[in-house]
Amino acid sequence: MKRILVSACLIGLPTRYNGKDAKREEVLKLAEGECLLPLCPEQLGGLPTPRPRATLSGGKVVNEEGEDVTENFLRGAGMVVELCKKLGIKKAILKEGSPSCGVNFTNVDWERVPGKGILTKMLETEGIKVEGVQ
Ligand code: SF4
Repeated sequence: MKRILVSACLIGLPTRYNGKDAKREEVLKLAEGECLLPLCPEQLGGLPTPRPRATLSGGKVVNEEGEDVTENFLRGAGMVVELCKKLGIKKAILKEGSPSCGVNFTNVDWERVPGKGILTKMLETEGIKVEGVQ
């Protein structure tokens, strides 16, 4: 059975900044045939839930209270990548539009724009294939 990393919010865990999930039935269905590893890099980076929204800006990650949370984002994404390497995970399914998990769309200066989130960039650097889910 293949192991696949998924954004924790996509399988219904309330990990989003607003304390809600982003459950997608198509992702949950994968669990019938695959071993899913649900993780949230922002929680792993030490941020609370709920938490202030954050965006990529000028090479940093800032939240709506004006705090620099770049270290949290980098630390959490790094933990996810290390775990994927240890477990031999080669594929990830992540939530589009997030400054962490976005694959084709991310958030820059509070706008949804084409681009990749911090976790996606790090996973792809390690050769892990990443798919995005809206
Ligand atoms: S960081 Fe990723 S897993 Fe966590 S809530 Fe945001 S999109 Fe979901």
